[in-house]
Amino acid sequence: MADFGFSIAKTRSVKLSDTDMSKYRQLLELVPSFKRCISCGGCTASCSARQFTDFNIRKTHCYFRRGQYDKLEQELQKCMLCGKCTLVCPRGVNLRSLIINMRQILTNTNEIIG
Ligand code: SF4
Ligand code: SF4
Repeated sequence: MADFGFSIAKTRSVKLSDTDMSKYRQLLELVPSFKRCISCGGCTASCSARQFTDFNIRKTHCYFRRGQYDKLEQELQKCMLCGKCTLVCPRGVNLRSLIINMRQILTNTNEIIG
């Protein structure tokens, strides 16, 4: 077979019925606007932290939605909480609040920010 210099990625699937979704459900209660996210990527495209790091807010909240929490706490520290993503979101998702609450849920703190 010809070597094209790349290979097709393996199929990835997440079995949600076997995944602990409690943190995601907790997040939806705290930030209901997250239900409106259509994963368009506008937040990542406008992200200030993205200009200086490999931070990808869309990827981060997509992982959270799938119950894949590994390394997200560390990843979310790259966000500067500038709020630009909240301004551009076409679905009115309160991303700044989403990020603060994702951080708090992942660190198991009890303080709630609306
Ligand atoms: S800009 Fe809004 S709708 Fe688009 S991916 Fe980000 S949070 Fe979701
Ligand atoms: S609040 Fe965080 S994720 Fe949103 S644009 Fe600013 S640095 Fe990026």
